[in-house]
Amino acid sequence: MKKQHELDRMIPLVREMVVGDCSDEEIIAAFQNFRVTCIGDANNLSTHSGQVALVTLISLVARMGVQIDIRIPEIELFGVQPPLNGCYLRSGILDLGSDLIPGSAITCWDNGKVDVALVMGDTAAPRLDCASWRLVGTAWSGTIHPIERKGAAWSDAWPIGAMVAAALAASEVFKAVVRQIQLSKPTPFWLEYVDQIRDAAWDFGHGLPIPHHLDMDQFDMVSGGAVSQALYFALMRLPEVHLRSRVFDNDTTDNTNLNRNLLSRYRHIGMKKIDVIRSYDIQNITAVCARLTEVNIHDYVPLAPSVLVGADDIPTRWLIQSCFPQWLGVCGTSHFGTLTSSHTKGEACAGCLHWHDEQGVGEIIPTVSFISFWAGLALAVRVLRKEIGRPYSTREQALWLVPLRMDDPNAGFWSTVSPRADCPVQCQASRAAIAR
Ligand SMILES: [Zn+2]
Repeated sequence: MKKQHELDRMIPLVREMVVGDCSDEEIIAAFQNFRVTCIGDANNLSTHSGQVALVTLISLVARMGVQIDIRIPEIELFGVQPPLNGCYLRSGILDLGSDLIPGSAITCWDNGKVDVALVMGDTAAPRLDCASWRLVGTAWSGTIHPIERKGAAWSDAWPIGAMVAAALAASEVFKAVVRQIQLSKPTPFWLEYVDQIRDAAWDFGHGLPIPHHLDMDQFDMVSGGAVSQALYFALMRLPEVHLRSRVFDNDTTDNTNLNRNLLSRYRHIGMKKIDVIRSYDIQNITAVCARLTEVNIHDYVPLAPSVLVGADDIPTRWLIQSCFPQWLGVCGTSHFGTLTSSHTKGEACAGCLHWHDEQGVGEIIPTVSFISFWAGLALAVRVLRKEIGRPYSTREQALWLVPLRMDDPNAGFWSTVSPRADCPVQCQASRAAIAR
């Protein structure tokens, strides 16, 4: 049996963008021969948001298997930055690089040739003969734009915008490698999805206040996989936000999870995913080693008033919805898209939205780090907005996001969820629809 490679679950996604023969080895080599430099100065990295932008960026990009060169000063960390160990930014990042994807490393930049450069805030950048972007942002919004354009320094403590900017930049790295592969291969008709973009932005806040202290209601998290780890990755970084959470999963980390499970390091292979989440000993998180099914769910009800589902399995979403939590948040990924939604009493439920189970049994789901991260981050913001009393409106009940071209005004599509007469959960809204 062929040994699994850490990038095995990303390879099918790349292959969707290349027509004709392209071996696994060719794809792996393209990523592992690609160099990215990340540049930040003391001013930008002496803020929590600047540190979050850099750590998120590196955690997303390194998981693709590319080589990373950093040019940053050594600085003490202001807040927790899992999966980094220790109290210092540069040494923590270098240490992460030695414990992630074998054959890929994070090193200090010696001015060698690089393929992409990513610059933090208003850091002065050298003239480089490669694609390059500046990462800037505010508390809730993030932007990438050409490095020739002036940027503002990272200055906020609230880091949602920092994580947005990092996710925007990570997608450009992925596309840049794919374009190199495509140079020698026929390409599909929808090539424009991998075109290099000049700038892109996303705002999760639109004037939202920043909570200065928040004790979140207890929530249950179903799954300890990629989307869940992305959600905890985001929530753990929010200053003065306190979680009480129970996470359910019985799955074990394997090497193919490293490409997107944001809290996982190579040393976690063989460890339960829930134990990886708890291993950082941050926040009040209880782990339950169980995969919730119709057989065992009675052992765990009542579930918390708020339940978040990051499981890919559609019947699991129906099962949790059938327990009728007060608030249910669901998110998942499909190829290059993410779908996030929330469901309260009287609204069309998760069964109305995910009414068809089209996934084959045992089917490997193609994944890449930044897609899973967008899903987890969008769900984190959705639950946060509920907690601070600024929930999304019914018109924003679902968000379909395609993060490959965030410069496209239609990259994010908001919608209400309509009740379906054939809802597998037979929720209140669906029964009302039948009665009408
Ligand atoms: Zn329904």
